[in-house]
Amino acid sequence: MSHLLCSLHDQALKLSRQYLACEKELLEILVKIDAKKVYLEQGYASLTEYSQKALGLSRDVSWNLVTIVHKSKAVPELKHAVQMGVIPLSKARQIAPHLTKENSQKFIALAQAMPREKLQEALAKECPMIPSVEERARVINATQAELSLCLPKEVMEKIRRAQDRVSESQKKWVGLAETLEQVVEFYLQHKDPKEKAKRHEVRKIRATVKAAQPRRTVREFNAAEKKLEWGSKSLPIVQTKDRVPIPAEIKHEVVNKNAHRCTYQDPRTQLRCEKERFLHFHHKLPVAMGGTNALENLTLLCSAHHRLEHYQSSG
Ligand SMILES: [Zn+2]
Ligand SMILES: [Zn+2]
Repeated sequence: MSHLLCSLHDQALKLSRQYLACEKELLEILVKIDAKKVYLEQGYASLTEYSQKALGLSRDVSWNLVTIVHKSKAVPELKHAVQMGVIPLSKARQIAPHLTKENSQKFIALAQAMPREKLQEALAKECPMIPSVEERARVINATQAELSLCLPKEVMEKIRRAQDRVSESQKKWVGLAETLEQVVEFYLQHKDPKEKAKRHEVRKIRATVKAAQPRRTVREFNAAEKKLEWGSKSLPIVQTKDRVPIPAEIKHEVVNKNAHRCTYQDPRTQLRCEKERFLHFHHKLPVAMGGTNALENLTLLCSAHHRLEHYQSSG
């Protein structure tokens, strides 16, 4: 090899060593930041958000680091193995989803001894219940996305059964994509707070129309109301003894008003949070300070921003 090529190789080697050392140091700092919740202090709802927005790390890099930080809380051996240089960060990330206190020694040794592909095979064999394929949803063009995921065999069988039913009702063979579309649509019709809130609007109109027959309408209305009560899982509210539960009607109004989306606005970018899942009802003026269940006093926040809001308002 010529002198020039040799020197390029040496430079690359030196820089990559520095790069890997930096990664290790960054992990150590992030563990401390997570423990002391420094990201809340900085106005970020989670360590992931902090590492992407404040530190400017890519989605993948921050995901890798945060996964290891979180797993290390239950299995500190993982963090130690990275810090001692026993395994690189990439392999720590690879074994993290499968790691428990009991198997940590064995898996760290495997990660140390095997190249990435062999390790992936070994993990698949050792942990058949845990998917070794990473869940990924990727937008491929303006109208389509590609989804890859691992399912238990029984779930796949159920999807096939659903595929048969959809095919029957459409009197033609229907593919998996269309089957999933139908299944998801059906589920949302019954479980999605947005759809429920829409139905609530329709019921309100019907109730007004049927006002001419009050006895029947009230009974029907109550029965329907009972049936459509909120699933507290998707929209949990903290209730203390003194708290009056938020009436279902008000909840529907809050959901409609805020398009079933977290209302937190990033003070730096003015962008509204995208989260539509695990939303909480939040009292703008706290109940403890005389805040009521009036529509104007309620808003929707995702769990992370709900935590941030209370952290900031508590001082
Ligand atoms: Zn709150
Ligand atoms: Zn949010």
